[in-house]
Amino acid sequence: MTDKMTPAQRHYCMSRIHGKGTKPELKVRQWLWRHGYRYRLNVKSVPGKPDIVMRRYRTAIFVNGCFWHGHHGCDKFKIPQTNREFWVNKIKRNQERDQQNYQVLHDNGWQVIVIWECQLTPKRIEETMLRVELMLNEHFLALHQPKVVPYDVQETPAAMAAEEAQPYGQ
Ligand SMILES: [Zn+2]
Repeated sequence: MTDKMTPAQRHYCMSRIHGKGTKPELKVRQWLWRHGYRYRLNVKSVPGKPDIVMRRYRTAIFVNGCFWHGHHGCDKFKIPQTNREFWVNKIKRNQERDQQNYQVLHDNGWQVIVIWECQLTPKRIEETMLRVELMLNEHFLALHQPKVVPYDVQETPAAMAAEEAQPYGQ
């Protein structure tokens, strides 16, 4: 299987890449920056070269184009009728590589957040990014949770003390 494209395929690719307004990844970066989050871009030492790396949150963010990464059930993910097999295979390989990257990150204790291009329209970006913010903060808390005795273990002595206390009241 080769990655060589015919001129028509290449043209199609280019039309997909260019002329789409602000790059989705840039929208995410701008939002995060405006809300006080700091990050690094395309850190090569992190597996899978995520688009945005937030070390403080041990979180890797991928901003995926719906077409190239095959956003399931999305309007923007429509396989062209010509050379259908070529596109199906190409996108399938992208998806497999994505999954491998996510798995490696996950195995190394990273939280992986995937943001789809279609979730960044003016209508949806705020909702999307608030959800991302929640995930960041939840993961941060999980990382920094103090080691405490589980609640049910603590509960038992307290219950015993209460029972023991009863005779004093009689
Ligand atoms: Zn989509």
